[in-house]
Amino acid sequence: MKPPPFEYHAPVSVSEALEALAATGPHGKVLAGGQSLIPLLNMRLVAPSHLVDINRIGELDTLTAGADGVRVGALARHATVERSTEAAAVQPLLRQALRLVAHPVIRNRGTVVGSLVHADPSAEMPAVLALLGGSVRLACLGGEREVAAADFFTGPMESAVEPGELAVSAFFPAPPPRSGTAFREVSRRHGDYAVAGMAALVTLDEDLRIASARVACVSVGPGPVVVDVSDACARRPAASVPWDAVAAAVRDRIDPEGDIHATAGYRRHLTGVLAERALKDAARNAGTEAAHE
Ligand SMILES: Cc1cc2nc3c(=O)[nH]c(=O)nc-3n(C[C@H](O)[C@H](O)[C@H](O)COP(=O)(O)OP(=O)(O)OC[C@H]3O[C@@H](n4cnc5c(N)ncnc54)[C@H](O)[C@@H]3O)c2cc1C
Repeated sequence: MKPPPFEYHAPVSVSEALEALAATGPHGKVLAGGQSLIPLLNMRLVAPSHLVDINRIGELDTLTAGADGVRVGALARHATVERSTEAAAVQPLLRQALRLVAHPVIRNRGTVVGSLVHADPSAEMPAVLALLGGSVRLACLGGEREVAAADFFTGPMESAVEPGELAVSAFFPAPPPRSGTAFREVSRRHGDYAVAGMAALVTLDEDLRIASARVACVSVGPGPVVVDVSDACARRPAASVPWDAVAAAVRDRIDPEGDIHATAGYRRHLTGVLAERALKDAARNAGTEAAHE
């Protein structure tokens, strides 16, 4: 199928893009990498009468890694962020998760910020942002606002972006010292969306006991489901944490739905398995980090 007719806008600056978005309001959509939007247009699941293509706006093609975290501009492609050694050094979870996003060809074009705005509950990057407590910066003609991840994902394929707004960047905070991260998922074929997935963040205290442990679950709710399992780890060293019981605590907190890919029960089972593996990986990585202190 071909997309329904639309008027095409090709701004070369953020201010031009904001003017176009303000003028078109609810009838306008931003075109970034197009890896989700173009299929939706071709299948006629969306029919905006205006497309605002941001691909010529060089000022959005940014990636900045600092001590406090990584800021990803709206035109930074998945592949650019995945390959950045600076970004991986500050926040390793970005690379760990991006390796699992689709296929290289799609990662060459798709953007991290586009994935966040698209807010697919099966996507990796929303889980990463939610787990880390990151944020998305939104701009409109009237100014800017920074929306915390907890408020950004409002439902399946729904985010806090209002008509007339452009997501200009996303911020992924650096983890505290002695932290480790990991991402695990199961998909039917390599590169497919995950049937279930798990991002994990574990932080050790100075005695190398688990100070905090959290996961963000993928494909088991309307958006990323963050579960804090610090209490279940009972401030033990990683080697004596009952990880199967901790994983059961994650499993008990989710309420997945069945679909053509998996039953709800299978998703729940996978979530427990992945939680145990991801948390163990993250705890091991935290130990390695602590050894380098
Ligand atoms: C075969 C295939 C497999 C895939 N597998 C995966 C996968 O396993 N995991 C995964 O996470 N993703 C997967 N994707 C999706 C891919 O990651 C997309 O690139 C991503 O979801 C959207 O990014 P984009 O830049 O292509 O956005 P677009 O497709 O251009 O836009 C997506 C939506 O976000 C809006 N939008 C985009 N950028 C902005 C902005 N800056 N401000 C406001 N609104 C904006 C658009 O208006 C649109 O509604 C897959 C895609 C394909 C085609």
